[in-house]
Amino acid sequence: MSARQPILIAGGGIGGLALALALARRDRPSIVLERQETVAPLGAGIQIGPNGMHALQALGLADALQPFAGVPEAIAVHAGSSGRVLTRLPLGQWIAGRHGAPYWVAHRGDLHRVLLDAANSDPRITLRSGFDIAAVAQTEAGVTVADRSGAMASGPALVGADGLWSAVRQFFPGMPAPEFAGATATRTTIPAARAGRLAIPAVGLWLNPHAHVVHYPVRGGSDIAVVVIARETWQGRQWDAEADAPTLLAQMESFHPSLTTILRTVTAWRKWALYTLPPLPSWTAGRAALLGDAAHPMLPYLAQGGALAMEDALVLAGCVAHDSDIPAAFGTYASLRRDRTRRVQAASVRQGRIYRLAPPLSQARDAVFRAAPAALIMSRLDWLYGWRPAR
Ligand SMILES: Cc1cc2nc3c(=O)[nH]c(=O)nc-3n(C[C@H](O)[C@H](O)[C@H](O)COP(=O)(O)OP(=O)(O)OC[C@H]3O[C@@H](n4cnc5c(N)ncnc54)[C@H](O)[C@@H]3O)c2cc1C
Repeated sequence: MSARQPILIAGGGIGGLALALALARRDRPSIVLERQETVAPLGAGIQIGPNGMHALQALGLADALQPFAGVPEAIAVHAGSSGRVLTRLPLGQWIAGRHGAPYWVAHRGDLHRVLLDAANSDPRITLRSGFDIAAVAQTEAGVTVADRSGAMASGPALVGADGLWSAVRQFFPGMPAPEFAGATATRTTIPAARAGRLAIPAVGLWLNPHAHVVHYPVRGGSDIAVVVIARETWQGRQWDAEADAPTLLAQMESFHPSLTTILRTVTAWRKWALYTLPPLPSWTAGRAALLGDAAHPMLPYLAQGGALAMEDALVLAGCVAHDSDIPAAFGTYASLRRDRTRRVQAASVRQGRIYRLAPPLSQARDAVFRAAPAALIMSRLDWLYGWRPAR
């Protein structure tokens, strides 16, 4: 492949932009094809564990995000109905010292904007917005994609970083469809001044059998991002559907009033339905490969979707830089990433089950949280947070 021909990247989300930047750092040009007309920063809170921070640092972007990020001291795990704190799992200096990178929380819009600003100012990256991929064709020499209005783009390779409902994946043979996970994530942000008990420099986690709540500071501490993950039947495909506040609050009656009185003051909630994707028979097809949610969507119980997409981006860029044979480079990338991403997917599913336990098993879980050394609980995730990019 000529190093001068830009690689096509479908999707200008977290993974697609991280890939464009990782390629640019290796002097590979790319064209990012993004469906949205204006690549607007969307979403609410996103967590970036030390593994994701290592990726962000390797892209040279941690300093740009720092003014907007929070550094939580701990994960404060609450019994949902009593509001009692069961344990404080250490983050802050403890996790930074252990893994050589901090644990940050941020607004997804801020993370996306930092990636986007860096991509916009790099002459090796071309952003084409309003390009909604509808068709993919490849020959031995290259890949051509077309959008819904008939516009075309061609290149030596295509990476589908176009999310859970990936259009690129549909052109791979024998791909399974996403499966509804029976729950919805409903999110909002609250000004910290009005967030009462939720305005703490920590990740708060409140557990009840049918729902759990996560909150943490974003936007440099001025807002608190809140997400409620609850069993639900709504199966929409949007990231940003309007959620009905009275319905949500009715689902939360069993939570302690010190949480619900604050949530009752919020009227604007957005939601997305949670889906899983069975393991794909392949992440690559000739000169095309998948990355991030398009390859391995994550349930949010370990908060790893963004971090793993950035990990993928660095590994893929490294493979392409070391091997001019694109199908071979993509094969190496997939073999380096499959086991890890499957392990994180499986661990997320397990974590969700633990969060949703009902009595008497929830009482046993809570007793473990109270009795076990918090650092020991966290050290079980060393394999996850200890990832570092190859040099
Ligand atoms: C609008 C939005 C809001 C989100 N909000 C949150 C949040 O608040 N908290 C959180 O933890 N996670 C959120 N996520 C998910 C999170 O960003 C991803 O799970 C994670 O970062 C993995 O990144 P990704 O690059 O694989 O996918 P994404 O970041 O989802 O990016 C996929 C990109 O592909 C584009 N795309 C999709 N189809 C096409 C097509 N046919 N042609 C061209 N482009 C296409 C999308 O517009 C999007 O920009 C959100 C995702 C989106 C798209």
